[in-house]
Amino acid sequence: MVFGSMDGSKNLKIERNEPSNPTTLADLASENIGVFCWCNRCNHNAELSISSLISILDPLFPVPKLGSLMRCSACNAQDVVTRPAWPSPGGGAIARHD
Ligand SMILES: [Zn+2]
Repeated sequence: MVFGSMDGSKNLKIERNEPSNPTTLADLASENIGVFCWCNRCNHNAELSISSLISILDPLFPVPKLGSLMRCSACNAQDVVTRPAWPSPGGGAIARHD
């Protein structure tokens, strides 16, 4: 048996899907931006104020993970996505998915 064949170099490349610096509640608080929540089940959506979130959660809580804590107030599903409610240019309405 010969163990000279090293084929481990392939394994050095590890793809990271998650961003290393997700937006946190503190990031949004510094710009006074709320969190936009969207229910995948019934399309109910709402914007939560950052001040109320930061009073109950850690300021360093990553915004994309908020969805796992949320439950839709309309249909009670826990299939909720969250993202920063960046003000849209021109002050238009938030773009719809469809
Ligand atoms: Zn819903």
